[in-house]
Amino acid sequence: MLFRQTVVLLFCCALAPCLVFSQEKQTAVTRPKMFDVTALDASADPCEDFDQYACGTWKKNNPVPSDQVFWARYNQLGEYNREVLRKIMEQAGSTPAGSQTARIVGNFYTSCMDETAANRAGITPLQSELRRIAAVSSHKELIDAVAHLHSIGVPVLFEFGAQPELHDATRMGAVIVQGGLGLPDRDYYLNQNDNSKQIRSKYVAHISTMLKLVGDSSESAEKQASAILDVEKGLAEASLDRVSMRDPKNRDHKMQVSALDALAPNLLLLRFFKAAGAPQFEQVNIVPPDYFQRLNTAVSSVPLDDWKTYLKWHLIRANAPYLSEPFVNEDFAFERRSLNGQREIEPRWKRCVSAADRLLGEALGRLYVEQTFSPENKRRTVEMVKLEEAALAENIQQLPWMNAQTKQQALLKLNAVTNKIGYPEVWLDYSSVKIKRDDLAENIRQARTFLVKHNLVKIGHPMDKSEWIVTTPTVNAYYYSPENSINFPAGVFQSPLFDAGMDDAVNFGAIGWLIGHELTHGFDDQGSKFDGQGNLTNWWTQTDREEFEKRTSCIADQYQDFVVVDDIHLNGRLTLGENTADNGGIRIAFAAMHKAAATKNAEQITIDGFTPEQRFFISFAQQWCANITPERLRVIAKVDPHAPVRFRTLGTLRNYSEFAKAFGCKEKQKMVSENACRVW
Ligand SMILES: [Zn+2]
Repeated sequence: MLFRQTVVLLFCCALAPCLVFSQEKQTAVTRPKMFDVTALDASADPCEDFDQYACGTWKKNNPVPSDQVFWARYNQLGEYNREVLRKIMEQAGSTPAGSQTARIVGNFYTSCMDETAANRAGITPLQSELRRIAAVSSHKELIDAVAHLHSIGVPVLFEFGAQPELHDATRMGAVIVQGGLGLPDRDYYLNQNDNSKQIRSKYVAHISTMLKLVGDSSESAEKQASAILDVEKGLAEASLDRVSMRDPKNRDHKMQVSALDALAPNLLLLRFFKAAGAPQFEQVNIVPPDYFQRLNTAVSSVPLDDWKTYLKWHLIRANAPYLSEPFVNEDFAFERRSLNGQREIEPRWKRCVSAADRLLGEALGRLYVEQTFSPENKRRTVEMVKLEEAALAENIQQLPWMNAQTKQQALLKLNAVTNKIGYPEVWLDYSSVKIKRDDLAENIRQARTFLVKHNLVKIGHPMDKSEWIVTTPTVNAYYYSPENSINFPAGVFQSPLFDAGMDDAVNFGAIGWLIGHELTHGFDDQGSKFDGQGNLTNWWTQTDREEFEKRTSCIADQYQDFVVVDDIHLNGRLTLGENTADNGGIRIAFAAMHKAAATKNAEQITIDGFTPEQRFFISFAQQWCANITPERLRVIAKVDPHAPVRFRTLGTLRNYSEFAKAFGCKEKQKMVSENACRVW
């Protein structure tokens, strides 16, 4: 991302919630229609390639814009939202006498849009932090510097924060998690293929350029850059891979803080916690212990100067998008162009809106909701959720491979699912954050510091179930295991996902599928290990668990066969949770659509020449329709638990007999799987 996620959000997302779409940048600008016949490619055979059939003309006419790396119909909606937010922020900026919320948002936007001021400031905003790092002369001071960086939202070496307890989700506990890398995944440091080698050498050149921008000589910058790569390579080698991190048992290592000195004495973790501003606590979850043991060794074996250089680099990296043009451009050149294939930087206003959404999301969201969200959306969604929960309950009762005991447990969990729709009941109070009209770098620091504090202060307190993990204008949704909740922010209730004026078939194919998808996450490879109260508990009989794993393996193996780009295959295990949720979500939504029709006794009419069933599946495929740069596909294949959307359409529908029935597809055609996989 151009403007990176704040520590708090990254942190949450790394551990639990399952968003339906990967978090992509979003251009262009009208809100796309639901069920668009002009998007179809009627020359394609729906039974051979349904993505081409439903999206072919749209894809041909909508190449990836030069300032994006990924372009889907839901990104068009995201872009539309960004325009709405821009107007809100401009208006707030031009009326300084507005509410406190409007003042915060308006001041931030005004400061962010002032490129001249950022250019004039140059590296001045970083000077005091750079001096602080340069002054480190001992191991203890190094740990203090690490803690200080954490407290201002620059998580070096690892991540630290509050998390619902795995075995008692009513409580928030402390957790430290592997991290501290500058490249998107540990594999970038470890793989020996040409692409990884190229990225590494570009990364070293990028670090070196940045160090020169803060005043280091060429020779020194180059030397430091290669030392930084070595330091990060050490962190990567100590890290668990993403698939292992999906397994909750690999994230379940709570220990007494008094035992930390035995585990990793060099890390001085007690000193770190205090210096980072955390309240006192007795126990902490270490994810994973082996990472911290290896880091412990590295802290004493790697020279102090190399650690200081590493800290300096991460300070620059975290702030570069908000500094003067040379920093902004260099950050773009590596993070967006080299890594992701983006050709042009986004206009400044877009970057400013996105930064405000990430850093002051609930202030902006509050203004957004006032202008956009209707209670009718909520009422319709609650109705759909009820129908889908009933459909999933019936599915569970009918599963031939599951015994009555496990079924009863599954139904208990399903009955305990809660939902949040629209926006937070209580908005985050930003009154302690000082946002000025003329100091962007300081505003960023203030907002980040606030978010870190807001997170840390939760340690030892009950979990607040009213909180959200995404902001209100977000075009996405998520299931959150610790709450056993499904969550739909206001931003998602628009076409191409929802349109109150459209027929049920079209809405069930899009937002209805999304509801089913989130419900199924409660029962995917990860969710199925937590009970209805959000606790990590085994509620399965051994035989049923084995049967479940046979079925999830079917999905993992099938998706592993998709080739993402070049010779890179999709990672079937990394994307298993999402693919399982897609697989279940489509069935649940389809059944719910029929329930809705039966309730209303509605006549099943053909519209635009399509039956309700056909409209349902076309709507499902058309909520995304996407073009993606090959560079971005390589990153997705490595880091994203979501398959690229084309494979989500193909994989989901091939496995579903109702799809074949709706379009008259026959055995041996590509959209009919020979060995159809089904979990729920
Ligand atoms: Zn999902």
